[in-house]
Amino acid sequence: MGQLVVVFLPFLAHGHMIPMLDMAKLFHSRGVKIIIISTAEFAGPIKKAQESGHDIGLSILKFPPEGSDLPEGCVSFDHIMGNDDLLTKFIKAVSMLREPVEKLLEEFRPNCLVSDMFLPWSTDSAAKFGIPRLVFHGFSTFALCATEQMKRHKPYANVSSDSEPFSLPNLPHKLQLVRTQMNPVDLEEKETAFSQLRVQMREAEGRSYGVVVNSFYELEPDYADHYKNVLGRRAWHIGPLLLHNKDDLSAKALRGKESVIDEHDCVEWLDSKKPNSVVYVCFGSMASFTSAQLRETAIGLEASGQDFIWVVRRGENGQGNDGFLPDGYEERIKGKGLIIRGWAPQVLILNHPSIGAFVTHCGWNSTLEGVCAGVPMVTWPVFAEQFFNEKLVTEVLRTGVSVGNRQWRRSGSEGVPSKAVAKAVQSVIDGKEAPEMRNRAKKLKEMALKAVEEGGSSCKELSSLIEELSVYRPSSTQA
Ligand code: UDP
Repeated sequence: MGQLVVVFLPFLAHGHMIPMLDMAKLFHSRGVKIIIISTAEFAGPIKKAQESGHDIGLSILKFPPEGSDLPEGCVSFDHIMGNDDLLTKFIKAVSMLREPVEKLLEEFRPNCLVSDMFLPWSTDSAAKFGIPRLVFHGFSTFALCATEQMKRHKPYANVSSDSEPFSLPNLPHKLQLVRTQMNPVDLEEKETAFSQLRVQMREAEGRSYGVVVNSFYELEPDYADHYKNVLGRRAWHIGPLLLHNKDDLSAKALRGKESVIDEHDCVEWLDSKKPNSVVYVCFGSMASFTSAQLRETAIGLEASGQDFIWVVRRGENGQGNDGFLPDGYEERIKGKGLIIRGWAPQVLILNHPSIGAFVTHCGWNSTLEGVCAGVPMVTWPVFAEQFFNEKLVTEVLRTGVSVGNRQWRRSGSEGVPSKAVAKAVQSVIDGKEAPEMRNRAKKLKEMALKAVEEGGSSCKELSSLIEELSVYRPSSTQA
C-alpha cells in the first residue's frame, strides 16, 4: 500500500482545533499524509504550521455556509455561548458542511477520517467512502467514562433535591456530584437542537471505528481500562499531544491565537518572581463570568497575598473590560498582579519555573497542559464536562483543590465568593497539603514525558493505530 492519507475534520472552537492540529502534526511525523478541513477563522495556526515546515494540506470551507441563517461573522462556537437561538442556527450551519466535506473526501480519497464528536454525520460520510471514522472528543478518559455511565444509569433521577449528592455510577472510584453541576439539558430531558445533536453524536459514535484520546494510559489507567473493558469502546490513548509537538514553547503557546501580550515582557515579569510563587488564572476560550463574579475574583486574588497572572477574556461580561475592577485595584496590585485582557501565551506561562499553581476551568486541554507543566491546580469548572475533570484532578489524581463552584452555566457564571478564591489559592501554594500535591504533580509530568518517548505507552498506541489503519480493508466497514 502507498502512503497512508488521513483527513482531519475539527470542530469550530479553539479548544477543539488546538489538539486536532497537534494530532495532525503527530500523524505527519509518522509519515502520514495529512489534510485538515477547516474554515477561515481557524486557518491561521494551520498556515503558520505550514510556513514553519510542516507539510500539512489545508482545505478551507466557507462558514457560515451559503443558505445558512446564521449571521455572517458568527464563525466560532464561543460567539454563540448563552444564546439558544444562535446555538440552534450554529448546529444547523455546521451540519450543512456535510456536502462540501464529502466533495473533498471524494477528491482526496483518504484512508481514514478523524473528526470531532460534534460532527456525527461524518460517520456516514466516512462509510460512504468505505473508510473508518475515528472520533475525537477532546475529553479525558475519565470524562468519557463518566458521561457514558451517567447516560446509562441516570443516578441524578434518584435524589430529592438539587443539593443532595449522588454517586457517579459504576466507576472505579466513589465520587459524587450534585444536580446543579450538570448540564440542565441532561436533567430536563427537554428536546432542543443541542439535545438532538447529542443523541446523534452518541449513536454515530457507536457506529464509528473507535476513539482517539488526548491523554496517556498512566494518567488514568483505571479509566482507560474501564472504557475499553467495561464500556466496550475501541480507544487509542496517544497524548499528551502537546508533548509530541517538538515546536519550541513560544510556538506551542500560540497554537490557538496571537497573544495580546508581548511574550518577552511576560517572561521578564515571570523571571522577576521566585520559583513556584505565581498563580496563573485562566478559564480557556469560552467560559464567561458576570461582572460581579469578576470583581469577587479580583478581590480574592488580591486577598490571597500571592503574585498572579489573570487572563480575562475580552468583553466576557458583556461590557468594557474594566468595569468590574474595584477602585484603585490596578494601582494596588502593581508589580504583584498582571491582568492579561485577551489571549495569553498559556503554555509558555505554565511552564515557567515561577508558576506555583494554575486556577483553571478544567477544560481538558488546560487541565492536561497543567499536568504537563507539573503544577498543582485550583479547579473552577464552569460548564461542559469540566465538573468531571474537577473530580479527576481533586479526588483521583489529588493534585488540586476545588474553589467550590457548584453551578453549571454555559455563560455568565457566578456565585464563588472572594473568600473561597483566596482560600483555595493559599491552600495550593502553601497549605498543609501543598508539598505533597506539588510532588504528585511533578511525578505526573515525568510520566507524561515518558509516555511520549520512544517505547512509551502513547507512542506504542499510536504505532498500533497507524499499523491497523495501514492494513484496513473497506469490507470491514462497520456502518
Ligand atoms: N488558551 C490560550 N490562551 C488563552 C486561553 C486559552 O493559549 O488565553 C488555550 C489553552 O492553552 C488551551 C485552549 O486554549 O489549549 C483551551 O482549551 P480548553 O479545553 O482548556 O478550554 P475551552 O476553551 O475548550 O473551554
